[in-house]
Parts: sequence; structure tokens; C-alpha cells
Amino acid sequence: SNIFFRPIEKINAVIESYPKGIAGFKRYTEIIDTEPDIADAKDAVEVESLQGDIRFDNVTFGYEPGRSILKGIDLSIHAGETIAFVGPSGAGKTTICSLLPRFYDVNDGKITVDGIDIRDMTLKSLRKNIGIVQQDVFLFAGTIRENIAYGDLKATDEQIWEAARRASLEETINQMPNGMDTVIGERGVKLSGGQKQRMAIARMFLKNPPILILDEATSALDTATEAAIQQSLSELAVGRTTLVIAHRLATIKNADRIIVVDESGIAEQGRHQDLVSSGGIYSRLHQAQYQHA
Ligand code: ATP
Repeated sequence: SNIFFRPIEKINAVIESYPKGIAGFKRYTEIIDTEPDIADAKDAVEVESLQGDIRFDNVTFGYEPGRSILKGIDLSIHAGETIAFVGPSGAGKTTICSLLPRFYDVNDGKITVDGIDIRDMTLKSLRKNIGIVQQDVFLFAGTIRENIAYGDLKATDEQIWEAARRASLEETINQMPNGMDTVIGERGVKLSGGQKQRMAIARMFLKNPPILILDEATSALDTATEAAIQQSLSELAVGRTTLVIAHRLATIKNADRIIVVDESGIAEQGRHQDLVSSGGIYSRLHQAQYQHA
């Protein structure tokens, strides 16, 4: 299932071995912003804020030689659109999304954002434009403030509070023993699953990337918490190009477009109601999965 695990685990392992405090923090920003696996092209460009127009052009990719997971994928996503990727487990939804931040490079074809091949951008500037929210939120031993800022040394107190507010964390933080300066993690205050998700959302409001990848993976949260988080996530998605590896029916129904991925590649795409009526793969998936929902 989860692509983001590998690279992020690697990053986390490095972060955790660093001393805390500002010096450690700085290192850690550098680590997040630079990915050692892939070197920048010689004349790679430093992109500023992208619009978020994404195109997959005849993309072929496999993790191992001779075994392509994606074959000749063509996909056009408009800036600001919310896309829900659905389909059977192992079809390649996560893989498609992992190519955008260049956790892996395509074997053939290309991916462009705003018409620029992502391999022609510096990795750091590309990734500044992409935010990822996943099920397993990485929080480190440090204060709430540090965890929301997540290595952004330029973030002002006002910006951090604004992000917390937009993620509906303000009250929670105010009720903590030291507010923003409350230490969380191993030796500090433990956060609930829902609060952790909100921390990740706050981080993203602060980072404010034009492109968002949401890895929804079926949640361990109770229904009410999940619905509230869902609401915050849709607010986060406003004005951003959002790719959701979707598992929740509400997300799927509300998406601007559903992309059905199966072994053959992109099997179908369209809005929920249209796909249900057309009686194809999606309508069968939907029936099997959600008939009791
Ligand atoms: P799920 O709904 O279960 O998350 P998915 O549609 O997101 O599935 P992917 O995780 O993209 O599917 O996996 C597509 C295929 O690639 C699967 O066959 C999977 O086993 C394989 N795969 C995924 N990650 C790796 C990896 N890091 N190395 C090798 N093979 C991988």
C-alpha cells in the first residue's frame, strides 16, 4: 500500500538521530528538502509557486526491471482539481502519486507540472510545491509549535497559530499545560489519533503547497472524528490540486473526478454519478464495497 513509508522512514531515521534544538532543526529542514536518492539535473530550474497543472504523458514505471506497474499512463489534472484514485489493492494508485514528488522516476514518458518536466526542476523546489498527508503522521519529540512548523524556521508565531486555527486545533492547544510550547511525544503529552491528523493538516496549512497528496487509507478513527477530519481536509484542498488515494465514500463522491485504476491502467474516469450509471468497473466496485454503507 504505502509508498511514502519508505522514503519518509528513511528521513525520520535520520532526523531522530539528530540533536534537538534549532541546530538540529536546521539540519532537519535540509534533510526534508533534499532527497539524496535523486540528483538534480545539471541545469535544473528552481521553480517558484506552481499553479499545479499536472500531466502524465505516456508514463511507464516499474519498481523492478521487466515488471512494469504502470504502462503508458496518460493523465491530465487541472490546477485546483480534486482527483480521487480508486481501484483494487495493488493496482498502482499509490505508485502514481509517488512519482509526482519523485520518490521514484519514470522509466518512460514524462510528468510535467505547469508544462515543465519535473526532472528539469530542482527536487527541493518541486517538493516545496507538494504537500503530503498520510495516515501515519510523523510527530517528533518537541513542542506543538515545532511540530506544526516542521522545520520551517521562517514561520512566525502568527502563521503557526493561523495554521492551528484552520486545522481546528486552537482549543486543544489552549487547553494544554503550556499551550504551543507543550512538549509532545515520548516524554510529553500524547495526542489522540484525530489530534495527530490535525497536526498534519496544520502543517499543510502552514506550508501552503499548491499540490496536495492525501493518502486516505482506511482509518482507525471513530466515525464522528473521521467526519470532522474529512471536513478539515476538504477545506485544506480548496484552491489546490489534490490527489487523493481514496478509501472513503464521501471523499470519492465529492471529488471533481474519480480515476479508476486497475491492472490495465486507468480503466475509467468521471464523476461518481456518471460512473455509477455507466455500469462499468466503478459501479461494480462501488456495489461490492459500499452496498452496506
Ligand atoms: P493499495 O490500495 O493496496 O494501497 P495501490 O493501488 O496503491 O494499492 P500500489 O501500492 O501502487 O497499489 O502498488 C502497485 C504494485 O506495486 C503492487 O503490485 C505492489 O506490490 C508493488 N509495489 C508497491 N510498492 C513497491 C515497492 N516499493 N517495491 C516493489 N514493489 C512495490
